[in-house]
Amino acid sequence: MKHEIKEVVATAINIPLTIEVGPVSARSNLSGVVVEVTTESGIVGHGFTAITEEEIVAAAVNAVAAPNLVGADALHREHIAERLYWLLTPRGQTGYASHAISAIDLALWDILGHATGLPCWRLLGGARQQVPLYVTFGFGGFSREELSDAARHLKAQGVTRFKMVVGHHALARRNEGNDLRAQLEEDIARVRTVREALGEGPDLYVDANCSLDPFSARWLAERIAEYGIAFFEEPIRDNAPSAMAELRRAAGIPIAAGQNEGQLFRFEQLMAAGAVDVIQPNAVICGGFTAAAKVGAIAQARNVAMANGGAFPFHNMHLNAGLANGGLVEWHLAAVAMGQAVFEHLPAPDGWELPLPEAPGLGFGLDRDKLRDLAGLPLSAGRGKA
Ligand SMILES: [Mg+2]
Repeated sequence: MKHEIKEVVATAINIPLTIEVGPVSARSNLSGVVVEVTTESGIVGHGFTAITEEEIVAAAVNAVAAPNLVGADALHREHIAERLYWLLTPRGQTGYASHAISAIDLALWDILGHATGLPCWRLLGGARQQVPLYVTFGFGGFSREELSDAARHLKAQGVTRFKMVVGHHALARRNEGNDLRAQLEEDIARVRTVREALGEGPDLYVDANCSLDPFSARWLAERIAEYGIAFFEEPIRDNAPSAMAELRRAAGIPIAAGQNEGQLFRFEQLMAAGAVDVIQPNAVICGGFTAAAKVGAIAQARNVAMANGGAFPFHNMHLNAGLANGGLVEWHLAAVAMGQAVFEHLPAPDGWELPLPEAPGLGFGLDRDKLRDLAGLPLSAGRGKA
């Protein structure tokens, strides 16, 4: 049976969030784009992307991709991925277009799930029925005392894997009088504070969000190594493969990266250069499950571990449960709150593992009333020419 695409609609949303971690709370804002693909056969699949400029991605989907997808078979994901490559990234560009392609691809997988009655993780290979979680709690805006209180609270809840930010916007703020050395000294104190709150057992990951130069990243890595860092994520600006490979050899801390990469060749370069111990394809950014599964294959061939970085666990749980070499999924407290604001029937952690749904496709629904509220405009106002 054919599932001809009838309509593709992207909606940009911006969500004000309050994150509560026991006695600690923080206000935040996250933006994202929801893409809905409707077929002539009556199936509506939904996909998602985030960590970029949501209005640009929504426009790329509605104005450029959508008119080119009408009439294509929604189950022909390779055909559509190739068409979108030549339409949006014909010289291998990464960036906004990869976000658009990801959200569309995830909607196609959701349609495949509904067409077959199977959840995406089973369609991807069904390696395991639950995925282990790590909790990202250590936000840059927290004071040392708040970090300590939040870490203790989560540990008491049974969490055994923790991630915190270091190098918060370091290079971006250098023209605002930011003293990089003083910031790194404070980062060392923050990591020490969290390790003291956790004790020796739990795993602790740090994430610089590509905010450091190679020298600063190494300087920091050498000084926090004694606190037992399980990996250092995105230590260096640009995820520069050769600089990260050098850091990896010198610093004695496992290196992780890949969450915001948008082309297969970037993942291949990172692994070929020996730049990462853990590769982190994010299904909502790298091109959906179609691209992420290929990254997984390269990682398996190169014996590089895989884990979710860049959050959005309700999509990435399928990837990491589906593939034999799938790994940890990121329970990023802000991204989880965002998911709970838009989606319905989401799974809940059980002993800090996330059980995969048996419902078809992504296994959770879109709350269209909430989506309309969050978009701040009627859904129809965001519709493209499809
Ligand atoms: Mg990250």
